[in-house]
Amino acid sequence: MIEKTLVLLKPDAVKRGLLGRILARFEDAGLKVVGLRMTMVDDALARRHYADLESRIGADAFASVIQFMQSGPVVAMALEGDGAVAVVRKLIGSTFPSDAAPGTVRGDFCHAGRRGDGDARAVANLVHASGSPDEAATELSLWFTPDQYLAYALPSEQFTL
Ligand code: ADP
Repeated sequence: MIEKTLVLLKPDAVKRGLLGRILARFEDAGLKVVGLRMTMVDDALARRHYADLESRIGADAFASVIQFMQSGPVVAMALEGDGAVAVVRKLIGSTFPSDAAPGTVRGDFCHAGRRGDGDARAVANLVHASGSPDEAATELSLWFTPDQYLAYALPSEQFTL
């Protein structure tokens, strides 16, 4: 089923000059970029985006994540394709870079090991991607208005043999 999903290239991806290489992973996999914008994130958007996170990781780590997301520009992308939500999650790899498989964005470009207990610094893992189709719909509405999606056809969509 054709789905749209949200990907954020976080401030560490921007600052490390990895935007092109990360975006290429998604293009190479055949996903269509239908929305793209670079922005600074304000506190309200960061909190809305990570609304369910505080209860999972605790107040200190949550505060660090919110601060991290505002530490530089973020590139927001809407990607479209067959099963795009799950495909993109596979391409980015596990949350903790030390768990992320080689060949994934986080596995190939992050090198942070797991930190000790009590270290609440945000995990700088370059990318965010929606975890489910419902989450994608909610998140996309935070980052894009409907008129910001651009419709066009990939060459692979234009001809069938
Ligand atoms: P994912 O980004 O893989 O969907 P989560 O939704 O669980 O992972 O977490 C959102 C983001 O919060 C992570 O990408 C990471 O940057 C940060 N994070 C998650 N867990 C922790 C933690 N225990 N300590 C610090 N930061 C965390």
